[in-house]
Amino acid sequence: MSESTFGDFLRTDRRDAGCDKTMALMHLYVELVIAGSDAEARYPEIAAHLRACDPCSEDYAGLLAAAR
Ligand SMILES: [Zn+2]
Repeated sequence: MSESTFGDFLRTDRRDAGCDKTMALMHLYVELVIAGSDAEARYPEIAAHLRACDPCSEDYAGLLAAAR
């Protein structure tokens, strides 16, 4: 692992909830978004993960589309 790769890991990992936590809390996050609340302010670590993780962001988009 190069130094720059390790630095990127630390920077992205600081607020990133990870897949397990994102999956566990995603329905709450979607509820906030649908209710018009500031979901990103409430769950910044999930917002960060959704930006970083394609599979999770696809699940999120699907949930959001199904809920609307
Ligand atoms: Zn993920």
